[in-house]
Amino acid sequence: MATNGTEETPPTPIDIGGICQLQFQEAARILELDESVQDELRIPFRELSVHVPVLMRDGSVRSFQGFRVQHNGARGPTKGGIRYHPHVDREEVGGLAALMTWKTALLDVPFGGAKGGVSVDPKELELFELERLTRKFTERAALALGPYRDIPAPDMGTDAQVMAWLLDEYSSKRGYTPAVVTGKPVSLGGSLGRDEATGRGVMVTMREAARDFGITWAGGKAAIQGFGNVGGHLAALLDEEEVQVVAVTDADGGVVNEDGLDVPALLSHARRTGTVAEFPEADPLDDYSFWRVPCDYLVPAALGSVITKEDNVQDLDCRMVVEAANAPTTPIADKILYERGVPVIPDILANAGGVVVSYFEWTQNLQQMSWELEEVRQRLEKKMKAAYQDVVTLARKREVPLRTAAYTIAVERVAEAEALRGH
Ligand code: NAD
Repeated sequence: MATNGTEETPPTPIDIGGICQLQFQEAARILELDESVQDELRIPFRELSVHVPVLMRDGSVRSFQGFRVQHNGARGPTKGGIRYHPHVDREEVGGLAALMTWKTALLDVPFGGAKGGVSVDPKELELFELERLTRKFTERAALALGPYRDIPAPDMGTDAQVMAWLLDEYSSKRGYTPAVVTGKPVSLGGSLGRDEATGRGVMVTMREAARDFGITWAGGKAAIQGFGNVGGHLAALLDEEEVQVVAVTDADGGVVNEDGLDVPALLSHARRTGTVAEFPEADPLDDYSFWRVPCDYLVPAALGSVITKEDNVQDLDCRMVVEAANAPTTPIADKILYERGVPVIPDILANAGGVVVSYFEWTQNLQQMSWELEEVRQRLEKKMKAAYQDVVTLARKREVPLRTAAYTIAVERVAEAEALRGH
């Protein structure tokens, strides 16, 4: 087995930055970009590291480390989530910031890419300690933020409440500025349709791809890993579209029913019990068996690096993989699927619905308007379809995987903006 850091040893499985970098290099090769241009697009233009001291309930002061990396802002203010997780470090935040640059460019929203985070386990903090942490982080990062500079959003471990505190802290020094953050509660200027946006974007992309690749839509079968924000909304939308959801797993178990699960009943079971496990009208399903369920659409909507050469890629029994989660397919598994002729709808396309509706939220805030839910849905659908069409057209023209096409489009757009802005 090769051990030289090439094909057989891709970046560590959860290294999204490394995977993103591989894709960037491939796109740069296709576009024949100069080394100097590659450097400009690869290296983050601004990185902020902040010390976040928090006065705890017991009177002690705990120190946390916070980061904000603005990867590229050539196409507009930078955009990206803030994550609270013990594993947050500069490398992870930097990799995720680059991913946002390519995602916003691919969806053609006028943003660049950023990411932020604090190395903390939010579950260990009481609510008011979490609020203090958020306010201190915001106060210290604020010089780099702003509606025309850098706009955070929720990510792992943060939610609409955290965004509300961020908005309040920022606005307390600068006046009411709802457009400084997205993913806010609707009562503070959040957009209708933001909650369901990622799941809806996944569904729209799947439907387009189903038509293109000649896979049954109504009556087709889908299996979904993860039943949270993305997986839950997606299941409900697929059910509306008459796509049968035959298998679902979450962190506590899974269920399968070859004839299609009763999705509304499963959603209320999961709301009541906190898990899909032990849903009465289905058989139990473990993680090993989940990846082997026969289906048309296999949708990882939970974790990274779950489709791997070692564990399951040879056994997948599906006609398409739809990456609702970030980086669920390792580069080697991705290559195997391509060689087998199984299309993989890449994460930067499939799960971009959230950032698109974040863009709508920002737009509504700047105009002091609020759109009807139907308008948000229609505009989202239009954006997702356009991006999908761009990707599939280039993939066919160049005879490359959809992921390579997606990165090539994104990198070319950012490179063009950089060139036009000059030095
Ligand atoms: P979430 O926390 O709401 O839900 C995650 C789900 O995954 C839960 O049902 C959880 O039980 C399940 N899960 C965890 N470990 C599991 C395991 N070992 N096996 C099976 N299921 C497991 O998260 P979410 O917002 O739905 O995000 C899901 C994925 O989509 C993540 O990779 C996230 O980065 C990505 N994503 C989310 C958004 C968004 O807007 N929410 C946008 C882009 C990408």
